Amino acid sequence: MKIPGYSYLEEIERAFNIKIQEEEKKKLKKVIEKHPMFIPEYYAKLIDWKNPDDPIKQIIFPSVDELDLSGSYDTSGEKENTVLTGLQHKYKETALLLVTNRCAGYCRHCFRKRLVGIPTDETVKLFDRAVEYIKEHPEITNVLISGGDPLILPTDVIEYFLSELSKINHLKFIRIGSRIPVFYPMRITEDRKLLEILSKYSTPERRIYLVTHFNHPVEITDEARRSIDSLIRHGVIVSNQAVLLKKVNDNPDTIATLMKELVSAGVVPYYLFQCRPVKRVKKHFQIPLKEGYRIVEKAKQKLDGHAKRFKYIMSHKTGKIEIVGIIGDEIYLKYHQAKQPSKVGKLFKKKLTPEAGWLDDLKPINTKSEKFVEVN
Ligand code: SF4
Repeated sequence: MKIPGYSYLEEIERAFNIKIQEEEKKKLKKVIEKHPMFIPEYYAKLIDWKNPDDPIKQIIFPSVDELDLSGSYDTSGEKENTVLTGLQHKYKETALLLVTNRCAGYCRHCFRKRLVGIPTDETVKLFDRAVEYIKEHPEITNVLISGGDPLILPTDVIEYFLSELSKINHLKFIRIGSRIPVFYPMRITEDRKLLEILSKYSTPERRIYLVTHFNHPVEITDEARRSIDSLIRHGVIVSNQAVLLKKVNDNPDTIATLMKELVSAGVVPYYLFQCRPVKRVKKHFQIPLKEGYRIVEKAKQKLDGHAKRFKYIMSHKTGKIEIVGIIGDEIYLKYHQAKQPSKVGKLFKKKLTPEAGWLDDLKPINTKSEKFVEVN
């Protein structure tokens, strides 16, 4: 699929009549050589290019801070959860398929930065073999089709995925992870065939969920709302996973407005992720947990029950950990999902420092109090 957009700095300079300083341009080119830039034309128009602090620009335009190599390229332990090329099985009930390395735009904060837009051997090669694996594992109740962005693929390919997965009786629902409603919503509204396919396979017995990724209220345009409306009218349930990002949405008003607007568009606010300590991402995007918790709680004070259904989560290699509360210098955490099933629901606490941004930065309090609190 050809999406109109910009891959070169000079194209941006020409299109939006801006000048990038030569020294900065040299550094940005080094960044782009490693992690390509692609800014869809539609999305580029949401940016105020004269404002260096424009929040949407931070998401999609490269930064010299990406030359910082602290962090890791695989913070969620995806390599160790890969059971076949492109198929991960971390949580008992969920299979994750990486079907493409391409997206409609390349987010600078992407936690799969190691593979998006660049050659990779991590995407599915033999889809039918992946389907066989899922068939052989009745404990898998749902599949997440991800990437990259699956909706970048031709509609026929998407139909093949859905038709094959729909033959597996123990699958109760299918999720598609896509940022298309944010980057190129016309892909949904203008492709009747795609909508028909979604309608065909999203049934009362096996619903299709589209998990999207709005980070800022500016992204919820009329076109984006229309794409969500089309999905809903064709039987798809739309939910949102946002990421808390420095200089993008790191204040209670922005988070509160984002959640309110999502609900008004018909989207379920699902997760707000703590930014992972990803290489070339962590330094300029991650907010300390202490500050993140403050932002989330202040935002929740402004929201009704529907808009505050989201959980503030660290997606750690051991599981999805909810940030439940902070009292003094102690942080309370809970395994919402865990790689080791016995940990699910376990509550624990750690010593918090003002700079800590990830579970691994937190210190033990003492051996006794670090033990999990039993729930039954
Ligand atoms: S659309 Fe999703 S997978 Fe693609 S770069 Fe953005 S966050 Fe990563």
